[in-house]
Amino acid sequence: MSFTEPQQFSSLENALTSLFGNDIKIIRTDRVAGGDINQAYRLSLNDGTCIFMKSNTKENASFFTAEAAGLNAIAHTKAIGTPRILGSGVDDDKRCSFLLLEFITAKNRISNYWEIFAKELAAMHQAETAGFVTEGIYGFSHDNYIGAKNQTNSVQDNWVSFFRDCRLKPQFKSAAGYFDKADLKNIDRLLEQIDDILVEPKHPSLLHGDLWSGNVITGNDGKAWLIDPAVYVGHAEADIAMTELFGGFPPAFYAAYREAAPLQPGYDCRRDLYNLYHLLNHLNLFGRSYLSSVKRVVEKYSR
Ligand code: ADP
Repeated sequence: MSFTEPQQFSSLENALTSLFGNDIKIIRTDRVAGGDINQAYRLSLNDGTCIFMKSNTKENASFFTAEAAGLNAIAHTKAIGTPRILGSGVDDDKRCSFLLLEFITAKNRISNYWEIFAKELAAMHQAETAGFVTEGIYGFSHDNYIGAKNQTNSVQDNWVSFFRDCRLKPQFKSAAGYFDKADLKNIDRLLEQIDDILVEPKHPSLLHGDLWSGNVITGNDGKAWLIDPAVYVGHAEADIAMTELFGGFPPAFYAAYREAAPLQPGYDCRRDLYNLYHLLNHLNLFGRSYLSSVKRVVEKYSR
């Protein structure tokens, strides 16, 4: 990659002394609520600094190398705010893995918060992507995670094939036990027809990949910052579709985004198919309550 990888440390103590000097101590640890997958903390240090730490088991250390690589890619576009990565690592004594980030202290939102967010997101979507893939166009240099589930980023030259092979197919495979014969027939038909439903983008874009409101936080400058990404290079409309899945952002966001980066005609007809990936992921992670939504979308696109 054409940019530096985030640092990795052999213990939390090693991370803190490397970053802040030998005299550094944690004087207070507070839990931060809100995450689904990891434990989150605010660490207050004896020099007055506060840092944000996520932790998980040692076995899940790759969650954090992947998250750091994603935040690093977003930061590399210089288009939109994201917390500074201090590093990640595994602590054998504490039997945990960890990710350390700049602590975001939410300020008041700036005026035109949504318009500026939309413009910055559009700029991220327009940034050069060649450095994020070793060869080919769509995918990412490493596999990563969508929630706690593996996300395959094998590089391809064709967006529609990438979305079929690396997004829908692995999720359908994991969810196979939920489907009856008729469903499976519909799924086959949908996958066969996908070239007639999705379109190639005008240019590839770095995507956040999991862009719902919980992953947009008001940053230290009062603007919208992106956290907890599942980045890859793809079609920008997949990110926009996801913003609409769980309630959506205000109309000002969509108007400003379309002004900065007009969506290709027919986006509305493709949105639910992009979001099928996330519905399937929820079915796989959280169970049957997502099955009827999944079936509805499969039926819609397999006629
Ligand atoms: P998970 O990976 O478990 O989904 P999140 O990334 O959503 O965790 O973060 C958990 C909580 O911590 C959320 O409430 C989020 O708003 C908050 N948070 C995330 N990153 C930071 C940060 N750098 N500074 C302060 N709070 C943060």
